[in-house]
Amino acid sequence: MNSEPILGIDLGTTNSLVGVVDSGFPILLADENGDRSTPSAVSYGDTLLVGAAALRQRALNPARTVTSVKRLIGRRGGESDWKPRYDLKELGVTPVEVSAEILKRLKAIAERALEQKVSRAVITVPAFFNDAQRAATKKAGELAGLTVERILSEPTAAALAYGLDKLTEHQKVAVYDLGGGTFDISVLEMREGVFQVLATAGDTQLGGDDLDRALAEFIAQRLNLPPNDIRVLEGAESVKKRLSNDESASFDTLTITRADLEKIARPWLERTRAHCLRAMSDAGVKAADLDEVILVGGSTRMPLVRQFVAELFGKEPNTSQNPDEAIALGATIQAGILSGSLRQVLLLDVTPLSLGIETFGGLMNIIIPRNTTIPAKAGEMFTNAVANQDAMLIRILQGERELAKDNWELGRVDVPFPPGPKGSARVGVQFSLDADGILNVLARDTATNTDTTLEIRGTAIDVADERVEQMIAESVEFAFDDMNERIWTEARIKAEELLPAVDAALAQLGDSISESETQEVREHAAKVRQILDSADHDARALKAATQQLDDATQTLAVMLIDRAMEESLARRGLV
Ligand code: ADP
Ligand code: MG
Repeated sequence: MNSEPILGIDLGTTNSLVGVVDSGFPILLADENGDRSTPSAVSYGDTLLVGAAALRQRALNPARTVTSVKRLIGRRGGESDWKPRYDLKELGVTPVEVSAEILKRLKAIAERALEQKVSRAVITVPAFFNDAQRAATKKAGELAGLTVERILSEPTAAALAYGLDKLTEHQKVAVYDLGGGTFDISVLEMREGVFQVLATAGDTQLGGDDLDRALAEFIAQRLNLPPNDIRVLEGAESVKKRLSNDESASFDTLTITRADLEKIARPWLERTRAHCLRAMSDAGVKAADLDEVILVGGSTRMPLVRQFVAELFGKEPNTSQNPDEAIALGATIQAGILSGSLRQVLLLDVTPLSLGIETFGGLMNIIIPRNTTIPAKAGEMFTNAVANQDAMLIRILQGERELAKDNWELGRVDVPFPPGPKGSARVGVQFSLDADGILNVLARDTATNTDTTLEIRGTAIDVADERVEQMIAESVEFAFDDMNERIWTEARIKAEELLPAVDAALAQLGDSISESETQEVREHAAKVRQILDSADHDARALKAATQQLDDATQTLAVMLIDRAMEESLARRGLV
């Protein structure tokens, strides 16, 4: 890939992140200190500082350190009831310009990591951002030297990161985003392959920062310190984060338990409840209608938040992604799709290994070959190999080996049918693999029109890469032996049918054929028997001998038919 990559950017209220698709995989980029998250802070002191450096000197220069500027972007004066500790007019900058500084920093982080210039980006904004706020964000990107290819809604980005673009039509998702300063709840629905935001609600003054202040107060009280001491405030945030993993954490001489924090956090968290109910009612859905609830924002790392969400929605939230990185990851995926560099990944939605069933003689019969793009549907008709069989056991197999026993069994179904002569049953077997990798096996007895079905989840598509590689390596390694075994088995089935038929014909025609003819057929039959009995499994020899026996008995077959015809005519008095 030499074409210029497109960046995916989460321009957050508290933290911002940048990512790119590299060799088909979305990755987030780290700065020179190894940090993937840049505080959304700009300080206008003697020198202009952005990110962690700006935050570090905030205590010294609070009036010249701009944080949470996202609360002001695209708004007219007085439109926000949030009062910052700085005055942008005094600093002589606009929210767009401050945001542009953050974006410039992210662009520089990306260029350093990628060792190349970049000039295109996808930037995320809250779902509730109006046109003016979106346009201002785009303007900030342009000011930072970026062509903004798309402004993407944060919950949509999060859903992409969680891989929910594979949801089927009309499935619904709730995105619960609790960050540093804001809370957002959105309900999305999949429509024609894209997410539609059905409803969004939230509180722009509710986030992890509030909890830091409440905890700082608790700590200050116990230690007799002023509560708005910046050291206590920063200590409180650090204690809070540690308590997401540990049962207790200390600040100075004070030990704070997770239970202490949860007591403080409860009422704060309760404030998100009404917004969630509101969003669901606006979207016209009940909690039970939601197919997934996903968590976004650093504050959702708290066990109490996860528990609260599970109770509120009556469903365990999906925690498969890093909540504070999900939006950036989704923006990156969108950027990758736009630049075409994710096409490779999308192509991975294929069957990693062939799917088939075992047929007579223990052979693998492939129905959906490996590397077929999903969804896929294919089928075949099978018959009974033995007379008076009354059921067929269908073993569903996955793998590249010729013999059923060397492949993996995914499941089995028993298909009953009315007993009859060999070859009289007609059983259609259909495999349909949907976009989620769920394999549905349908077996239909065409005589009675009875269907037997089996659903196999996950395994058809979800196979660990190493196991796929091993299976393919073995199929190559054993290709020769495998192919020999298949030809052998096919020839053996034919020989085992032919030999008794030949014996029967000789017995019936004994007197009417010459001694030499009988001798020749006997020799060919003996040869076939000899190869069949040998342990060599010489497939070519068996195939050739069976063919010779077949040829040699052609005259016998003709004579048998002639004789049958004469007998029939005689019975009816016609000759
Ligand atoms: P934003 O969307 O506002 O930019 P983030 O998603 O980055 O914010 O979330 C930042 C918030 O997450 C901060 O309040 C921070 O303290 C909190 N946070 C980060 N990690 C943890 C953690 N492990 N436990 C609890 N809170 C955390
Ligand atoms: Mg956020």
